[in-house]
Amino acid sequence: MLRLAVALFAMLGVAAARDTPAPGPLHIVGGASAGCLAGAVRLPAGGDGFQTIHLSRSSFWGAPVTIAGIEELGKEAHAAGLGDLYVEDVARPRGGPLPGGHVAHQLGLDADVGLDVSPKHALTATERETVELPSMVRADQRGVDPGHWSPQVATLLHLAAGLPGVDRILVNAAIKKQLCDTVQGDRSWLRMIRPWYDHSAHMHIHFRCPAGQHDCVDIPPQPAGESCDATLQWWFDQLDVPPQPAKPYHPPALPAACKAVMDAP
Ligand SMILES: [Zn+2]
Repeated sequence: MLRLAVALFAMLGVAAARDTPAPGPLHIVGGASAGCLAGAVRLPAGGDGFQTIHLSRSSFWGAPVTIAGIEELGKEAHAAGLGDLYVEDVARPRGGPLPGGHVAHQLGLDADVGLDVSPKHALTATERETVELPSMVRADQRGVDPGHWSPQVATLLHLAAGLPGVDRILVNAAIKKQLCDTVQGDRSWLRMIRPWYDHSAHMHIHFRCPAGQHDCVDIPPQPAGESCDATLQWWFDQLDVPPQPAKPYHPPALPAACKAVMDAP
């Protein structure tokens, strides 16, 4: 299995990385598309209100703010009467690119959490690998799927937007539009919810660089306001544009300071 993993990483052009965190203290180096971290901590396989899934292809290490945030979200979701959250990728033990071309998730400041809040049982080991997250979005991408969407999904997104240290949450544009059209009362948190490609079955939670992490580069802040405007409509206009051939993506090299992190015993 190890040999297979090494061969796979070599094939992907990714250096075989250690499967243990680099020793602390916490040190986050780089930005959203290329970086690493030392001092990562691991999310437990399950806890109050959450279960991890796809263990063979996901990685559950992250900065303490991220891991604490997921555990807090599980607790708050449980207290709000929502079903267990399914948590997928956080980051590898030392960050860097994840296998499978996942560009973000390099700093230990990102986590993918399923949006399905229906009641769940404790998954068996096999189910953890095979369970699929249902899409909240209609096949035509222009609205949410009433078969899966419920106001409780909006409750989950509201809870996630209130986590300490959270920077933004990426979801499909149809989900953002649903919030824009239906959330009443406090709407200030809609600013944290950003439309992005895919993300119809899970949300991507991104945390800001923790205080004192001077080698960690934040994403520029999102604009003020709810962004329930032309910038959201743009995503739907794209659905009418014929798809362009995907440009090859050449990932940026890791910052030089990541070598010490990756090589640390
Ligand atoms: Zn993600």
